[in-house]
Amino acid sequence: MDKLTITDFKAMLDVALKNIKAKEEEFSKLDAVIGDGDHGTAIVTALSCIVRSAQQGTEFKSMLTDMGMNVMLEVSGSTSTLLGALFLGMSDAAEGTELDADGVRKMFASGLANVQQQTAAKVGDKTMMDALVPAVEAMKACTSSDIKEILDAGAKAALAGAEATVPMKANFGRARNYGERSIGYMDSGAASWSCMFASFAEALK
Ligand SMILES: [Mg+2]
Repeated sequence: MDKLTITDFKAMLDVALKNIKAKEEEFSKLDAVIGDGDHGTAIVTALSCIVRSAQQGTEFKSMLTDMGMNVMLEVSGSTSTLLGALFLGMSDAAEGTELDADGVRKMFASGLANVQQQTAAKVGDKTMMDALVPAVEAMKACTSSDIKEILDAGAKAALAGAEATVPMKANFGRARNYGERSIGYMDSGAASWSCMFASFAEALK
């Protein structure tokens, strides 16, 4: 696959929403270990708004801008802020109605850079960054001109990154207060974001 079209991208979003909805309860249960147990609801609400906002999109930049702006304006909470930052950041580096492999790598790298403006969380803190950072780094490192291969590399790295949060102690934000209790459970945000990247790759099969 040497071009990613708007239709392909919308399919990626649809699969992500479907898979994340199916795991809503699981994400909330993971969040309840050290938080308020609302992550499943939060990510489904935010992603639903994002998918809805993408529907009228006909080219990458304005579509991604709408997705990011709408979720930040319409949905409150850190999940929406971080997802909004991802798509707004992606909009900075995406143009036109189709992207080649390099365009896809640049788009996700720009998304990560913008998320890093919103949170100081680093890999190892047991947050969604444990899925996002390795996913984007793996995509950047994948020199293939096949977009499917790039998204597969991102998916694999995101899932491994989320898995790596299981033995970690939460080290960021409010969760830090319950750090010890988090050991043995996957971080809810890393779980949901890795599901999103796995879905992006699945959609192109
Ligand atoms: Mg929560």
